[in-house]
Amino acid sequence: MTKILMLSVRPDEQAAIKAWQDRHPGVEVTTAAWELRASTVDQTAGFDGLVIQQRYNIEAEVYPKLKALGFKQISARTAGFDVLDLNLAKQNNLVVTNVPAYSPRSVAELALAHTLRLTRNLELFDDRASRQDFRWAGLQAKEIHSLTIGIIGAGRIGGTAARLFHALGAKVIANDLVENPELKDVLTYLPFEEVLKQADVVSLHVDLNESTHNLIDEHALSLMKPTAFLVNECRGPVVDTDALINALENKQLAGAALDTLTGEENFFNFNLEGQALPSQQLVKLRAMPNVVITPHVGFYTNIAVQNMVDISLDSALAVLEGQKPTTQVN
Ligand code: NAD
Repeated sequence: MTKILMLSVRPDEQAAIKAWQDRHPGVEVTTAAWELRASTVDQTAGFDGLVIQQRYNIEAEVYPKLKALGFKQISARTAGFDVLDLNLAKQNNLVVTNVPAYSPRSVAELALAHTLRLTRNLELFDDRASRQDFRWAGLQAKEIHSLTIGIIGAGRIGGTAARLFHALGAKVIANDLVENPELKDVLTYLPFEEVLKQADVVSLHVDLNESTHNLIDEHALSLMKPTAFLVNECRGPVVDTDALINALENKQLAGAALDTLTGEENFFNFNLEGQALPSQQLVKLRAMPNVVITPHVGFYTNIAVQNMVDISLDSALAVLEGQKPTTQVN
């Protein structure tokens, strides 16, 4: 019997894990809530395969220990694998796999939801309603099909978002380093600065790399219309948060929706009720009624969670059976 240990498992993943287990009677999947750390690695003894999903970097001493325990792989059930050191994994004969695209639609739909929340002024109406002010004045909305949506990074998620916005009748413009001919029926590629200047909503979907770190900085924000909104569903460091706060405070921008923020590992997916927040940027953004914040939940849908479980377990099993998984990253 092949034994796979799945770590950092949440209760909502159990149904998908059970369904996979039922389809693979020769494999025993054991789940645990703890993360892979130097302090926990000894508890992985006796298992053949390992599936992880965690926020903290794995310490260097973990890799040789896993090798000594007989592991051949580490499978992340996320797209990102920054918590893993690919070189150390390779040096210790550990294949690393990820789940490159668990459901582009899940994140694209949140970009749409955030866009409508901003363009229909729902956050501002909620703010008024919380003070028992039920007036309309000053908050007339714009219909989505009258707007220009600017997609920065029209890859898997950005391309899917472009199709959703196009289907609703919006004009979609985009910037990407690579132009995808399959998207030309729904969007028009333009230079980066042109997208910022023309868009009513700028929706960010780039991967985090050297070229996208602080891509949306003071200069980029200054190019956007004062009536425009910024939506960030990709990675916190793509936006210079202080520059965004300044732009919002100076009314250079109408509002923002953020599913990701620099430093989010210190506050997202924690219950901090009644506590001082560990980020002044978060404090400032939360105080703004035209800012929507969600705790990195773009991925958190029925379909995406099922795919993360299935693809990570399939990848782990492929390595254990001597195959090369298509999801191998090192
Ligand atoms: P992808 O690789 O398919 O697409 C990224 C696109 O960005 C590519 O087309 C690439 O060419 C483009 N790009 C890179 N650098 C650029 C630059 N400087 N200027 C313009 N375009 C540039 O990736 P994806 O699967 O669509 O994921 C996109 C982002 O979404 C990633 O950052 C990922 O971490 C994030 N994500 C967020 C969630 C969430 O829960 N909010 C979930 C999954 C993924």
